Amino acid sequence: MSSIKVGEARKIILEKIQSQGTEKVSINEALGRILSEDIIARRNNPPMDNSAMDGYALIAKDVELATPENPIKLDIIEDLAAGYSPEMTIQSGQAVRIMTGAPIPEGADAVVMQEDTERNGNSVQVKDKAEVRENIRDAGEDVREGETVIRKGVDLMPAHIGMMAVVGRSTALVGRRPRVAVISTGDEVMDLDEPLSGPCIYNSNGYMLAAQIKSAGGIPSYLGIARDNEKDLMEKFKWALQCDMVVSSGGVSVGDYDLVKTSLEKMGQEMLFWKVAMKPGKPLAFGRIDDVPIFGLPGNPVSSFVSFEQFVRPSIRKMMGATQLNHKSVQAKLTRTVHKKAGRQHFLSAYVNWEDGECTVRPTQEQGSGILKSTVNANGLLIFPLELTEMTEGTEVTVQLLY
Ligand code: AMP
Ligand code: MG
Repeated sequence: MSSIKVGEARKIILEKIQSQGTEKVSINEALGRILSEDIIARRNNPPMDNSAMDGYALIAKDVELATPENPIKLDIIEDLAAGYSPEMTIQSGQAVRIMTGAPIPEGADAVVMQEDTERNGNSVQVKDKAEVRENIRDAGEDVREGETVIRKGVDLMPAHIGMMAVVGRSTALVGRRPRVAVISTGDEVMDLDEPLSGPCIYNSNGYMLAAQIKSAGGIPSYLGIARDNEKDLMEKFKWALQCDMVVSSGGVSVGDYDLVKTSLEKMGQEMLFWKVAMKPGKPLAFGRIDDVPIFGLPGNPVSSFVSFEQFVRPSIRKMMGATQLNHKSVQAKLTRTVHKKAGRQHFLSAYVNWEDGECTVRPTQEQGSGILKSTVNANGLLIFPLELTEMTEGTEVTVQLLY
């Protein structure tokens, strides 16, 4: 079987992934969800011209000669707080005491801030001139009626939540979060509450994958460990098909007990098995049974981690209707020369650092498909392209940002 490229595998997979539909959530539950509708302002914000300062609304021309030495006296005709509408119209020689956010009265064309005035009873001495429109915020300067203020497909962040409230939305339509089954495979793999002995290891992939699913927006359903026989595997996978997606780790390689492929083939249709030209990772099973996408990831922990980030995360995000499916990438200056053989795209666990306006990236020390420590100390995956054999210190390279 020849290898296919990471991008090709991702493309084939994503073509087969369908959106999960939408649900309505309260604004208090919307953080981190993917918006499934455009949010449109039904009204200007601010609704009317208003004061940006505590001070006095007046006619700019009246105070054009005002200085601290020669202040100009105006009569105060009204006191106006935010939330109240002006009743009076300003004529030449008059001012309105005004608070930040209060509407600008008819006739006024500027606001002088309090610090440049001195009040005496019902009049005010203005000690500075004002430009026309000074300290006035325009109606609609934040949002205009009819404007799309948040676009469908974005990850809702705190500022978006604020904007929803600006336009009066207490609920929003968001993408449904897929329920994703996690199956670990292997006779050597034990669960955390079991006593470990001899050649056994803990099921680190199962917990890590559940965490990755959660961080991608999905709802993990941990199904434990299937032993390396077809009966056990088929039983677990059958159970898993109640979810919207299934992710397994281990058992997809060429070993005698790598039975995930054959078990899945016996269960249904449309399974694809690839050697993907990547490292870590390489074997990958993908297919659908009863329209449920199934990912068979490799068992080595770093391979499982990286394969999830390349193929499963964008799939979960597509199911939820996200616009941006993949991790964001940055260009960074490589701090040490790295080598490899041509033919596979490598993902090096790496640490990206921003200092003094420069972005640098340092591959973490030990790299290896079983060395999870390298990933623990990383905040990105450095892309070492398939055809290259060397990337030298000081060159600009691409790094996928994990966090
Ligand atoms: P496999 O792909 O099943 O051949 O597994 C490859 C390597 O990954 C073996 O060393 C396994 O012991 C290890 N491995 C498989 N599944 C897990 C798991 N759930 N947690 C930690 N390591 C695993
Ligand atoms: Mg195995």
